[in-house]
Amino acid sequence: MKLIFVSGGVISGLGKGITASSIGRLLEARGLRVSAIKIDPYLNIDAGTMNPYEHGEVYVLDDGGEVDLDLGNYERFMDLHLTRDHNITTGKVYRSVIDNERRGDYLGKTVQIIPHVTDEIKRRITSVARESGADVVIVELGGTVGDMESLPFLEAARQLGRDLGREENVMFVHTTLIPIMGSVGEEKTKPTQHSVKELMSIGIRPDIIVGRCSEPVSDAARAKIAMFCDVPEEAVISTPDARSIYEVPLNLERQGVADLIIDRMRLRPMTSGRDMGSWERFVDRVVNPEGIVEIALVGKYTSLADSYLSHLEAFTHAGAETGCRVKVRFVDSDDLVRGNPEAILAGVDGVIVPGGFGTRGVEGMIAAARYARGNGVPFLGVCLGFQIATIEIARDVLGLARATSTEFDPETPDPVICIMGEQLGITDMGATMRLGAQEVVVAEGSRARTLYGKERISERHRHRYEVNPEYIPRLEAAGWRFTGRSECGTRMEIGELEGHPYFVASQFHPEFRSRPGKPSPLHLGLVRAAMERRNPED
Ligand code: GLN
Repeated sequence: MKLIFVSGGVISGLGKGITASSIGRLLEARGLRVSAIKIDPYLNIDAGTMNPYEHGEVYVLDDGGEVDLDLGNYERFMDLHLTRDHNITTGKVYRSVIDNERRGDYLGKTVQIIPHVTDEIKRRITSVARESGADVVIVELGGTVGDMESLPFLEAARQLGRDLGREENVMFVHTTLIPIMGSVGEEKTKPTQHSVKELMSIGIRPDIIVGRCSEPVSDAARAKIAMFCDVPEEAVISTPDARSIYEVPLNLERQGVADLIIDRMRLRPMTSGRDMGSWERFVDRVVNPEGIVEIALVGKYTSLADSYLSHLEAFTHAGAETGCRVKVRFVDSDDLVRGNPEAILAGVDGVIVPGGFGTRGVEGMIAAARYARGNGVPFLGVCLGFQIATIEIARDVLGLARATSTEFDPETPDPVICIMGEQLGITDMGATMRLGAQEVVVAEGSRARTLYGKERISERHRHRYEVNPEYIPRLEAAGWRFTGRSECGTRMEIGELEGHPYFVASQFHPEFRSRPGKPSPLHLGLVRAAMERRNPED
């Protein structure tokens, strides 16, 4: 078993997840099997109950795990299908330890952080690593070295180094910040030195130091870090700001990171070459677009771009496919109620209403759907966006002025969206929605069928409410056709409007399966329609 731990120092938000994902991508390009684990030192069991404002979007896995958005980066960079066990939280660890204690498994012992909590952390890491069957597993330690919360995880990582062998089975990659100060632009290495010292005081000596800097790090600064932090110079890696996150693996490759890891861990790559050709072509299309389209993203968490990370990535993938840059204009849905939607959305080539929860912002989203439907502007609704589109059509086309979802008004006379039967009586919020990959049957002759190119698709879900079957005949008669349905036929999964250039919505989340080179078909459809609207003569 071979593990690479990736830790972070100085500040959060250094792109540890992108570093971890990029290393994985490079090892995969050598024909190695790679998997990844994210450790989050918070007490939540999973990310499912967390507000996107705090931690960015909740990413959903095939098995229904509601996890940290870094698992999305791993899946996109390494084209993996992970399971919920790949996200280890303090909450999960403590829950197991306390359950064990109540069962009497500790045989009268005093239950302590060391060894009981650290053993549980080690057990979880090694069992996921074993089950994944990977040659090497990358373990990203969330938080910043020096935080109280991450100490038990760092201690467990240190012990794993001892247990498995520091020589060739366990490596530590530490990402830090190298700020540039003053008018002459001097690179400051002191924060890195301090953070490595902090790591060493826990008993971990990093093997590779990845320095995040706005500019390429000079050789002089790298030499200084190497000297003070006791690593070889070639193990101090410079990661300047990139034009796209997808450039980072290519940058790390140029600096020999993968070879360094392969030599040190005595990994046996299947190929001597590096199969990064298709990745390079993808990056080239991302950073050198030929055209541009602007899509308005109308939601209620728009002040934090990470809340919609997978949509932004899906647009990058769709943009690369079509050779254009997708510029996303974030629109706070409440603004569409306070202001004039026509003015606020003027000039956009397409509109997306993504997922969300709760009543706030809903009327603005309905206004966005109305604007797109009424003006022939390409529209994609996802999850809540699908429900919004259905409500808008019920109100404006069927004339049911008070139609809404029972999520927003339990007393509505026209509950076109209502709670799913199996959700009745559920009071716990955590992991209780309809979650994860489910099959959808796509109708022949529909736009969705053309986009997906097949009848049976599998997409990820995260919702409690659904289209009320009683309204289906009337909605379909009004041109809102449900061209995707669950296997049993009773749940509406895709809607598309007749006679509109592109007005499509899905109850599932196609953004979670979008990958470089394999964009989400519904996002791709939106981008293509937006391009046509912008350049009708092409
Ligand atoms: N709030 C809606 C529901 O629970 C939509 C959920 C979502 O957009 N993820 O069904």
